[in-house]
Amino acid sequence: MNERLYYHDSFLYEFDANLVEITSVDTRPALILDRTAFYPTSGGQVVDTGWLGAADRSESERLRVVEVAEDDDGRILHFVAQRPAFGPGTPMLGLIDKERRRDHMQQHSGQHVLSAAFVRLFDMPTVSFHMGGESSSIDLDTKNLAPEQLRDAETLANDIVLENRRVDICFVTQEEAQTMGLRKIPSGKQGKLRLIDIHDFDLTGCGGTHVASTGQIGCILLRKLEKVREGSRVEFVCGTRALAMARRDYAALVESAALCSAQIWDLPQQVRRLQEDARMSRKANQLLVGELADLWGARLLAERPPQDGTILIVRTFPDQDLGFIKLLAQRLTRQTPGVVALLGSTREAPSLVFAQSTGQPFDMGALMKEVLSRWGGRGGGSKEMAQGGPARIEDLEKVLLEVAARLRDQQPRTPGG
Ligand SMILES: [Zn+2]
Repeated sequence: MNERLYYHDSFLYEFDANLVEITSVDTRPALILDRTAFYPTSGGQVVDTGWLGAADRSESERLRVVEVAEDDDGRILHFVAQRPAFGPGTPMLGLIDKERRRDHMQQHSGQHVLSAAFVRLFDMPTVSFHMGGESSSIDLDTKNLAPEQLRDAETLANDIVLENRRVDICFVTQEEAQTMGLRKIPSGKQGKLRLIDIHDFDLTGCGGTHVASTGQIGCILLRKLEKVREGSRVEFVCGTRALAMARRDYAALVESAALCSAQIWDLPQQVRRLQEDARMSRKANQLLVGELADLWGARLLAERPPQDGTILIVRTFPDQDLGFIKLLAQRLTRQTPGVVALLGSTREAPSLVFAQSTGQPFDMGALMKEVLSRWGGRGGGSKEMAQGGPARIEDLEKVLLEVAARLRDQQPRTPGG
């Protein structure tokens, strides 16, 4: 019942079996076979996908196997896309998604080699393994892992690949396992233990699918080092994934280099230069904006010669942003007494700034809040200065005119003026 063919042969992509039962989990149909080459979710490795069909039916009637899981009784459930039209006892043909399986073998065997390399070189055991869709990772039981150590482990791991060592599968009893110097003995396993033996390099308990010799791993490429709660996380890719990732990296570098008209190796220097240029430009821009605010301040004040009561300045800037109108409001109200500035910007989001010189009788924050509550916007601030914006850009001018009219009405008037 439920013989695991992948335990003995990871390269078995096609197999015969008999359908034992059709069951379902949360309405998802699942098939149970008397034997299977499909690898279920377990031990950090990702499941196989593929196809299952009645042996005497056509290819078009095969069912897509979307997930494979083990139930509490140790039976392997093959979740299929739709309920089959045949019943228990049917002779079946199983097909494993070959590319996906090969990828999993490369990542998993690569992980064994890498984990063993960290133990051999630095006595750093692996505490967990995760195989992801893009890259995989191991967590090492150490807080201190230097970049040179990563490089040394990567070099040793790739030496083992180049030596093309045999990878054997063997089964031993728990007692035998205790005396064999295993890198890791799986806990809580009943019966015989399955071991993966990388010739003269690594021996460890594992139920996963593996390459037959280390050369099939292709290449072991370390990508990222990260501190995690348990220690250090090392991200890596093996084989075809390493090739795909190297291609992607190279394409990104070539595109970036073309943008800078540089060689890819000069990119760090080019990026530093661009950052410095951007910093200088920001600085120059700040100076210019300051000067522009000064000029606008002087011009607006000149257009409104000193008068009795408040000097009310109302203006909208379609080409300047909120930062500019804030700066202008400050310059207008801090340097000249008796000024109330009502400024708007429509360059990005509709923005308003209300400000008054010290000693003016109004409350800019309250005014902004009150007027925008009616125009469907948000804003507020202090008695001297407030900012906000109406919901709709076309209302900005109307809000400004309404507030200006109200302030004019509230101004103290000179008798007879
Ligand atoms: Zn393993």
